[in-house]
Amino acid sequence: NDLINKIAAGEVIERPSSIVKELVENSIDAGATEITIEIENGGITYIKVSDNGKGIHEDDIEKAFMRHATSKIKNEQDLFKITSLGFRGEALASIAAISKVELTTKTKDVEYGVKVNIENGTIKNKSYSGATTGTSITVRDIFYNVPARLKFLKSPSREQSYITEIVENLALSNPQISFKYITNKKLVFVTKGDGNLKNVIYVIYGKNIYENLIEVNCSKETITLKGFIGNSKIEKNNRNYQSIFVNGRYIKNKTITAAIENAYKSMLSINKFPFFIINLFINPELIDVNVHPTKAEIKFSDEQKVFKEVYTCIKECIINKDY
Ligand code: ADP
Ligand code: MG
Repeated sequence: NDLINKIAAGEVIERPSSIVKELVENSIDAGATEITIEIENGGITYIKVSDNGKGIHEDDIEKAFMRHATSKIKNEQDLFKITSLGFRGEALASIAAISKVELTTKTKDVEYGVKVNIENGTIKNKSYSGATTGTSITVRDIFYNVPARLKFLKSPSREQSYITEIVENLALSNPQISFKYITNKKLVFVTKGDGNLKNVIYVIYGKNIYENLIEVNCSKETITLKGFIGNSKIEKNNRNYQSIFVNGRYIKNKTITAAIENAYKSMLSINKFPFFIINLFINPELIDVNVHPTKAEIKFSDEQKVFKEVYTCIKECIINKDY
């Protein structure tokens, strides 16, 4: 069982950034409005994610760390219908199988917080203390018991850059949540959590890498687009500053990218990859269920239609912008 847990963990938890993604998504699913992410040494020494979400009831703690105990889906068809980010019920189990976890949590109906330490997937000790409602999970010594995986990790600075990308994307796709990101005890950024995406873009990218931001806010028959597009000021012509979120999940999709770029280039006769942060909302049934949702790449049942609608939306938003 221990071995099975470790092997299965490898699929979900590839590196420290996977842990950060899973923990923060849990915080989002728990309704948090403030999430703090702290990492040390590229997340290899520790990762701590604290939130003010609904917390975990004492009786549910053990279950939360059991594989599939919380799975919300029964078949592939359900995958895109769920509204929460988590659905497999195996992230916490996987994390606990390959690291040392400390959890402090409090629900609003009890007066005290519960703290547990989990090692080798089992609860080691439990204590009670004062705490505010929410959950804080510290993950230490990642892959301490899987040396082959540990060896596979890149340098702390490289691992940190993977984490930073994940945290940035989570902040960009959730402007209604305040994110605080700390690396090696230094504050990297804080977002306000007031729902204003443009402010999040300022906080994360500053003003040096884009100009002339245009707001995108448009609905067509099957899609709604919200976000910003602008000129990239980066000398290198690459797609590093383009993010697409479909129904809140960070994804990559050539059709959407091409539609945005083509519309932008043709309208503004700029022959460079634009900067953009675009949220696309679509009925989950129009997403091709044969593509696994844990992969960043997705397909739509009618790619042509999505292309046309995105293209038209971007064009209209550029035309309607008041200069
Ligand atoms: P999943 O997110 O797929 O359900 P996880 O292993 O990530 O599975 O989490 C297991 C369960 O633990 C969640 O379904 C949730 O009930 C609980 N949980 C995990 N993290 C938090 C959190 N930060 N706040 C409240 N509940 C949490
Ligand atoms: Mg989860």
